[in-house]
Amino acid sequence: MIGSAAARHLAKAGHDVTLIGPGEPADWSTHTGAFASHYDEGRITRMNDRRSFFARASAASIRRYGEIEAESGIPFFNECGALIAGGPDYIAAVESATEGLSVKREHLGAQGLQDRFPYLAIPDGFTGYHEPKNAGHISPRNLVAAQQEAARRHGATRLEREATGVATGRVVTDTEFLAAEEIIVAAGGWTDDLLGRKTLDVYARTVAFHEIGPNEAERLKTLPSLVMESPDDIYILPPVLYPDGKLWLKLGGDPTDDLLPDKEAITDWYRSGGNADRADYLTARIREIIPGLAFESRFHKPCVTTWSHDRIPEIRRLAPGLIVAAAGNGAGAKCSDELGRMVAAIATGEDP
Ligand SMILES: Cc1cc2nc3c(=O)[nH]c(=O)nc-3n(C[C@H](O)[C@H](O)[C@H](O)COP(=O)(O)OP(=O)(O)OC[C@H]3O[C@@H](n4cnc5c(N)ncnc54)[C@H](O)[C@@H]3O)c2cc1C
Repeated sequence: MIGSAAARHLAKAGHDVTLIGPGEPADWSTHTGAFASHYDEGRITRMNDRRSFFARASAASIRRYGEIEAESGIPFFNECGALIAGGPDYIAAVESATEGLSVKREHLGAQGLQDRFPYLAIPDGFTGYHEPKNAGHISPRNLVAAQQEAARRHGATRLEREATGVATGRVVTDTEFLAAEEIIVAAGGWTDDLLGRKTLDVYARTVAFHEIGPNEAERLKTLPSLVMESPDDIYILPPVLYPDGKLWLKLGGDPTDDLLPDKEAITDWYRSGGNADRADYLTARIREIIPGLAFESRFHKPCVTTWSHDRIPEIRRLAPGLIVAAAGNGAGAKCSDELGRMVAAIATGEDP
């Protein structure tokens, strides 16, 4: 997501850009190469955040969604709104992180939440911010496709391959050796492996999808993307239409962070199909939050999130001709265009 964004920004500014990376594997259970954290149709997007960096980067990105859709002809944004709910300290942190951003939002007390979203069981003592505009969810697959198509129209080249090695000013793949003035490594959970270091933490995540029928779709038609204070960082997306023609309610949230120590562990995790016990846990959680939820079927999938120790994306020059842009810290989809702009600025010697 970050690499494709950087490619668009650099190509648009007139630079000679080659975007190197594999496509989505057809069969996850037998694939031996790299996967990605964006093989899905739903990622929450919002400006309200407890972390100032993400609030600001998301605001900048969301302002450019229309530009990316227009430059590519590929839509990816569903403006269904977002709700963030929590206790007084949590909401105060959101207020402080978003100060000066002029987010269009409505503060809802306990009664306001109940009146507006009667199908949600929000814990006692919680209030919330509802962001009806410039928020909702994006298709991360389509955002990547849109960035790549826009980059192509601005003159970038795409090489559908995996890099096997990088160094200052050069990239090696199975079949070629490429030289460039600047190399940006934006390989998500595979970044450390490619750079031959151990700096970032990659955690296993399981997401659960619940298929809903027309009656539940009608009952939940006003559900925005939901982020709620909880020890497991629970989040729920509103019903999203997937390529199989069905409406799926997706949620995630992890009571533990299970570290994947190296590339082999990450690949094995994707090939495993995810954790069925964690999916059962998520089904129990969605039933707590949406009491009486009726769903027709369920499946789950693995994914990974990549974290830096200071919880801010790692976007910096490592050496002359070599730059890193990684660590979405579980929130890098919505703001990926701004992360790409920042790394493009570093590559061209500007102040990010
Ligand atoms: C379950 C889940 C839910 C999430 N929900 C949200 C959300 O609601 N909102 C939000 O904003 N964010 C969310 N995120 C986080 C977001 O998806 C990530 O932060 C984002 O995808 C990170 O972008 P990236 O470009 O760093 O990595 P990726 O999207 O993983 O892209 C890395 C790319 O590098 C490529 N690559 C790997 N190895 C090589 C190699 N050797 N050579 C060439 N290319 C290589 C991969 O193929 C991939 O295309 C979620 C993540 C997960 C797992």
